[in-house]
Amino acid sequence: MIELIQTDITKLELDAIVNAANRSLLGGGGVDGAIHSAAGSELLDECKTLNGCDTGEAKITKAYKLAAKHVIHTVGPVWSGGNNNERDLLANCYINSLTLAKQYGLETIAFPNISTGVYHFPKQLAAETAITAVKEFQAEGGTHIKVLFVCFDDENYRIYEKFLGK
Ligand code: ADP
Repeated sequence: MIELIQTDITKLELDAIVNAANRSLLGGGGVDGAIHSAAGSELLDECKTLNGCDTGEAKITKAYKLAAKHVIHTVGPVWSGGNNNERDLLANCYINSLTLAKQYGLETIAFPNISTGVYHFPKQLAAETAITAVKEFQAEGGTHIKVLFVCFDDENYRIYEKFLGK
């Protein structure tokens, strides 16, 4: 099951929200900054124990003061023209986050529009990549995890509406 909403991801009461982190996992701007400030400093304390995260990989923590139960931190690729495996790396973010969610028995997960902020991944291509990866995982994994695509900006919301056929 896939749903689309336009909201602040930090407000969601789900089994997991996904953070578009950087490789240090020590916080940043955009959605990363919003998640860390809403979760409180204990999230940073736990992230410090993780030794960072490679691009396309994912790591899970508790969610502390957030309404969600867990945060899955994944590191999107920085867009650098499209010839540096950016598309596969972005797909890996979604697949590896869902794989972790499945391992932990989670049933609901929300994704932000990974890499489409300061990492400058083209929004249409990012949406297409994200939706394809999630649908493939759901088809192959035989899981019942409910996936929410959370758009913050209007442009991403309109793109997702179009691709999801709303
Ligand atoms: P990246 O470095 O992966 O590009 P950003 O945080 O800069 O990460 O942007 C990723 C996406 O997250 C952007 O589309 C941005 O609009 C969105 N975003 C920023 N703040 C929030 C929030 N509080 N909730 C959901 N999405 C957000």
